Formats: sequence, C-alpha cells, structure tokens
Amino acid sequence: MNRIAFIGLGNMGSPMTSRLVAAGYSVVGFDVAEAARARFAETGGVPAETAVAAVDGADVIILMLPNSAIVESVVADVLPHVKPGALFVDMSSSEPLRTRALAETVAAGGSRLIDAPVSGGVKGAIAGSLAIMVGGPDAEFAEVAELLGTLGNPTHVGAIGSGHALKAINNLMSSAHLWVSSEAMLTGIAFGLDPNVMLEVINASSGRSGSTQLKWPNFIVPETYDSGFALALMLKDMKIATSLAAELGIPHTLSDLTVEHWTEANDDLGPGADHTEVARWLRQRTPGESGEKKERSA
Ligand code: NAD
Repeated sequence: MNRIAFIGLGNMGSPMTSRLVAAGYSVVGFDVAEAARARFAETGGVPAETAVAAVDGADVIILMLPNSAIVESVVADVLPHVKPGALFVDMSSSEPLRTRALAETVAAGGSRLIDAPVSGGVKGAIAGSLAIMVGGPDAEFAEVAELLGTLGNPTHVGAIGSGHALKAINNLMSSAHLWVSSEAMLTGIAFGLDPNVMLEVINASSGRSGSTQLKWPNFIVPETYDSGFALALMLKDMKIATSLAAELGIPHTLSDLTVEHWTEANDDLGPGADHTEVARWLRQRTPGESGEKKERSA
C-alpha cells in the first residue's frame, strides 16, 4: 500500500482521511491547527508535528487546504524533503493557472503534481461519494485512481489545472443557483406556500438544482446552516471562475453580479459563516423579519 501524507485536516480533510485509514492506507497527517491533528489521531491517523515530517517517505502527498497561496507555501516548504518522484495531489479548490505554474515548479524539483478537487461537501466526504475532477497526465491519473476511488468517483477531466477550472465553474453555478433559489423560495413562502411542498414539486420540475435537492432540505428548512462549507470559500471559488472568464474573454455580467451579492453577504455575516447562511441573510431582508435581524447582529 502507498504511504500517504495528508496536509489540511479540516472539515473535508478530516472525513477524507478517516476513509483512507479505514481502507487500510498508512496516512501521516499535518494541520496547523492542533485540534485538527488531535481529531485525526482519534480516527487512527498518524499526526506529524510539521508538514516536512508528514511528507517523509511518502509516495503520495494529498493537499486539502483553503487556497492556492497556502498550497504554494506548503509545497515550497516540503518540496526539498519529499521522496524523489513523489506525487502531489492538490484536492483543494485552487486557481487553475497557478496550479499549472506550480506543477512546473514541482517538476523542476524532481516530483509531480496533479489537481483533483472535489464536489459533494462534508456529507459526500463522509460517504465516500465525492465527485473528483482530476487534471493531469493519463499515467498519474491511473496511478491514483484506486486511491481516489476510496474517497469518491474520480473522473479524468483534462490536463493539469483542468480539475481546478471545472471545480470553480461548478461552484459559480452552484452559488448562483443557491442565491436565486433562495429568492424564489422566500417569495413562495411569503405568498403562503409550504416550503416542503414547494421543494417536493420543484425537485420534480425544471427549477431544481443542487440547492433545492440538497441545501434547502438539509440545511435551510431545518435552519441548521451547518453544511460545513464556509461562505468565504464559496466566494473564493466564484472569483476564480469569474477571473477565468475575464482572462478568456467570456461574457460574465450575471456572474459578476452574483459575486457582488455574495460579497455583501460575506462582509455582513463575517468569517465563520456557512455558505447556506445566505438564505437566512436574504430572509432577514424580507418585511417582518427585522426583529430577527436585530437579534442576530446584536
Ligand atoms: P477548512 O478550513 O475546514 O480546512 C482547511 C484546513 O487547512 C484547516 O484545518 C486549517 O487549519 C488547515 N491549514 C491552513 N493553513 C495550513 C497550512 N499552512 N498547513 C497545514 N494546514 C493548514 O476547509 P475545508 O472546508 O476542509 O476546505 C478545504 C478545501 O476544500 C478548500 O479549498 C475548499 O474550497 C475545498 N472544498 C470544501 C468543501 C466543503 O464542503 N467544505 C467542498 C468542496 C471543496
């Protein structure tokens, strides 16, 4: 079995490493947060005190970190210490053009890097049903297909950076769906419709999306807002997609407006907010909800 180093043991990294350990892989993990390392140890992983110690002797180094800047800094830190030919798999939602450049840096250092971001959220990570979008050469895809199969369903989507491009594009769509489905659902609720009846019908109709099929029933109707995917991370992905559209000269006016709306909600709700809280934020702007609005901002 391959020896795996896993860096970034947060909301996604934690259930993903649990699955790898349960499947029998030897996983050494690192996270800057001590609580994340402790949680990882409880699930049978071997925590390391530094990223450099985690990659010692590893064949595969999985990264599940917040963004490209952090991925680049961790890679720069560990690259001189990895086994020659080791394979970095960046499963974070990173920026595709930066990923291409990083793969060149890694190759110059005698190792390899591919991208394999995911969709499916914490629920998908726990269930091992993540959609995994792999960018990189055929040989590297073949090398990690079985390992990634432990975490979900890997699809080889193209050359290096393609997975990261597709992931950002998916989340731009997902964020727009969540916003418009929230405005639409709130309209129906204000009219007097039952949200559960609305969802049942919409999910058998043409207005359905991941937001009406999963996010509204699981996190918004029950008012738990605990999907485990931060609003700030969603906004990061949306901006990656709109930057790509700008770079490629593709019209992106509605996408820009969506980014504006999400930015306003993010500024208002603050750093800890779950992305599903945009529905609550919108609801607080409807007439008759001002009491709740005051209570939350108090
Ligand atoms: P998270 O913030 O819960 O976890 C990130 C972890 O990285 C944290 O535990 C943090 O302490 C750690 N970290 C930060 N800097 C570090 C460093 N220099 N060295 C080591 N560890 C460091 O985020 P998450 O929700 O697990 O998301 C991780 C990535 O996956 C992001 O790129 C996100 O956009 C993407 N993603 C998240 C979800 C989701 O539903 N949460 C779904 C798909 C993709």
